[in-house]
Amino acid sequence: MRQKLVAGNWKLNGSKASIEALVGGILAGMDGMNNVGVAVCAPYVYIPMTQGLLVGSKVGLGSQDIADQDSGAFTGEVSGPMLNEFGCGYAIVGHSERRALYGEKDEDTARKFAAARKHGLKPILCVGETLEEREGGITEQVVARQLDAVIALEGVEALVDGVIAYEPVWAIGTGKTASPQQAQDVHAFIRGKLAALNANVAEKVQILYGGSVKGANAAELFAMPDIDGGLIGGASLDAKEFLAICQAGN
Ligand code: PGA
Repeated sequence: MRQKLVAGNWKLNGSKASIEALVGGILAGMDGMNNVGVAVCAPYVYIPMTQGLLVGSKVGLGSQDIADQDSGAFTGEVSGPMLNEFGCGYAIVGHSERRALYGEKDEDTARKFAAARKHGLKPILCVGETLEEREGGITEQVVARQLDAVIALEGVEALVDGVIAYEPVWAIGTGKTASPQQAQDVHAFIRGKLAALNANVAEKVQILYGGSVKGANAAELFAMPDIDGGLIGGASLDAKEFLAICQAGN
């Protein structure tokens, strides 16, 4: 049985005061959350503070990106060894906003996956199609291409060191959630693709769904056989809403 994981992606949101309140609210509701993994991915500058707030809790900490290099002349980047020093257990890689707004290519994402893995951070590898790609009938092709870049660089076995997040771009921040069946279809495609390469990896790897997940729709999404939790944007900024999603996975 794969455990469910609910990871919050705060994106470019928060302040010292709001994060203190948010984490306080999350921790206050963690009693009894024994069957679900919970993590929050903070903006880089707030990672040390968030680490402090999470001390002694079972909530994991992650970054929203990671450099594909360890150190050197890479202005603006933050590396795996640095994230290690501040208690990060996860790093989101290849989020659709990185791909669409900052020109990140499949190969860049693959190198970031490798960098996270090398330093013992669990990469949360985001894949997903745009609305145009879905309407063009190439959803599976796009998701396969995004996965193949990582498999080519690291091998299929490497995927068990990470988590996959299927996030249809048209469902992110739009209020348009994929239906449980639409999501399940792509999750099953991903697991089937991996099974053709390595049955053990396919069985073990957690595949999260992301895109307008809320307290009200989490349970039906998480009930699908190949959906192992969620990557949560907007709803992760509200402790009550985020806890409701965690509870759906518990
Ligand atoms: P959303 O974002 O929950 O706000 O749609 C999800 C994500 O981008 O990870």
